[in-house]
Formats: sequence, structure tokens, C-alpha cells
Amino acid sequence: PLSQSGRVDNPRLCVCVRKRPLSKKELGKKEIDVVTIPGNGTLLFHEPKQKVDLTKYLENQVFHFDYSFDETTTNDTVYRHTAKPLVQTIFEGGMATCFAYGQTGSGKTHTMGGDFSGKNQNSSKGIYALAAQDVFTLLRQHPDLDPFVSFFEIYNGKVYDLLNKKTQLRVLEDERQQMQVVGLQEMSVTCVADVIKMIERGSACRTSGQTFANANSSRSHAVLQIILRRRLQLHGKFSLVDLAGNERGMDVRGNDRQTLAETAEINRSLLALKECIRSLGHNSDHIPFRMSKLTQVLRDSFIGENSRTCMIAMISPGMGSCDYTLNTLRYANRVK
Ligand code: ADP
Ligand code: MG
Repeated sequence: PLSQSGRVDNPRLCVCVRKRPLSKKELGKKEIDVVTIPGNGTLLFHEPKQKVDLTKYLENQVFHFDYSFDETTTNDTVYRHTAKPLVQTIFEGGMATCFAYGQTGSGKTHTMGGDFSGKNQNSSKGIYALAAQDVFTLLRQHPDLDPFVSFFEIYNGKVYDLLNKKTQLRVLEDERQQMQVVGLQEMSVTCVADVIKMIERGSACRTSGQTFANANSSRSHAVLQIILRRRLQLHGKFSLVDLAGNERGMDVRGNDRQTLAETAEINRSLLALKECIRSLGHNSDHIPFRMSKLTQVLRDSFIGENSRTCMIAMISPGMGSCDYTLNTLRYANRVK
């Protein structure tokens, strides 16, 4: 179900792609599957419109990633190769970050959240719950560390606390360039069930109470953090980020001023993220984290010897999504 490149360019950065199955609706519309994953981390994108010139075809439509997960891959397998290796990092005092990137409907929330409680038989647990399980397993060997959870949303350049009634929070930079989200709730947790409760509470908060309830969730970044502290001092932090949909100005949902502003902000933050991850991957000293609120808040993820990041780019395989899919593949390719 997965195709692995077998090369490890940089252990600090893992970039992979996950293809979801065609949905019932897409199958009903007889959508053509435009993505093939043959092996070795390789992914073929065969845009039906483009033709003939084989050299161009190969140049433009073959992508190589650390892993390419096909439509039969389970959340469990995706987790095992992406976020799981990063759990150790936070016990070693580092920052771990996992991003879910892609257009709305491509599977970001399915991969990150999934059925976090594990109650739904048709759905499986996502990375949130699987990572929480592993953190608590490792905590048994580290009685000196205390776990906390925070969960917030970045919408239109503003930070909202999902564990505290969507209170808007300010982000401040102190004299040591540390970023502080002022007043962010950090809930003490004692078991996996506690973490799940927080995720449930935050997710409910995410999709309610606003006029554009659902659209809102696809236009905001959600950041779940599992934080380890030793005597209240920060030890390690795992940030799990369900990014805003990357459909950009291609989105047709009206183009009133509010939508345009939102779109511009999403573009800005995803561009900033790309530049920051690239810098991390190239071990560059210059991390342009001030370019957006998202990268400001996640500044710690991009610096430090012991920071590790993985990005999972989600794609919808249908021909109807091919422009978005190509966009996503190019972004992920560029991040490496
Ligand atoms: P996003 O968060 O990127 O907008 P979702 O995670 O909500 O997308 O996924 C859209 C739909 O596709 C949901 O109904 C979800 O259950 C389904 N889906 C996504 N990925 C998969 C997958 N790998 N296998 C089966 N169904 C999936
Ligand atoms: Mg989603």
C-alpha cells in the first residue's frame, strides 16, 4: 500500500503524499483517477488534458517523496511512517511537528483526527489519537515529565483558543525571540482518554458558533499540541497541524471582500510555511518565520538541533481535482 523512496536525505524532514480513494460521489460521476503510485516513493500524475511530449510529461508529472501512500493505506500505516518516529523527539527535549496539507476534501482531517475516539467501526483513529497513545506509553519510562494539551485555531491571521470558548489570543515575541501565545490554555492530562476529551471539545468548538461554521474549518489552521514539562519547564512539544484548505483564489465560493482577505491570508501563511520548512530542510540559518502568524506561532518547530518535521500532502485522485492536486504536488515537492 505504500511506496518508499528508501533514501533519507535529511532526518529532520520527511515529506510524503497520501492519496485518498475516489469518493462515492466521484465514482457516481465516473471520475477518472489521475494518480498512480507505482513504487519507490514515486507518484505519477497523469493529467488527461496534457498529451504526447513524453519528455515534458516525465519532467512535469513524476514526483518523488519519502513516502507515497496509495488509496489502500490505513491511518495506522501512515502514522507509523510519519508522526510515530517523531514521538521520541519530544522525549529527547525537541520540537516535533506534523502538517496535513491539501485541498478541502482531500483527507487532512481524516488523517489527523479520524475517528479519534475509536468508537466508529467504519473509521479508524487518526494521528492525534495514535500519537497520544505512544506518548503515554513512553511516559511510563519518564515519570519526571508531565503532559499537557493545547488546541488552537488560526483564522484570518488571528489565534483562537479552542479549549477556551474560542477566546482570541495575542502572540507576543519576547526579547529572546521566543513566541508566546498569551493566555493559551494548557490542560493537564493524565491518560489518552483525557487527550481525546480535549480533542472532542476543541473540534466541536472549531465548527460551531460562527456564521461560516463549516467553511470556517476549511479556511483555518488547527494546531493540537502535546506538551511535556519537567517541573513546569518546557521539555518537548509535538504540534499536529491540520492546515487550511489550499484551494487558493481558485475557490469559487463568492469573492466578497471577506473571502478575498481570507484567501490572501491563507496564501501568505502557506507560502511562509513552505519557506520555513525549506530552510529547515536545507539547515539554513535564516528562517523567515515572521512572514505569517502560523509560522510565528510555530517558530520553535523550525529551529534547534533537535527539531523534526513531517508533512503529509493529501490529494484527491479525481480528474475534477487535477488542478488542485498538481498544485499540492508541486508545493510538497518544493518543500523538500
Ligand atoms: P479535509 O479535512 O482535507 O477537508 P476530510 O478528511 O474531511 O478532508 O475528508 C473528506 C472525506 O473523504 C471524508 O468523508 C473522509 O472520511 C473521506 N476520506 C478522506 N481520506 C480518506 C481515506 N484515506 N480513506 C477513506 N476515506 C477518506
Ligand atoms: Mg478538514
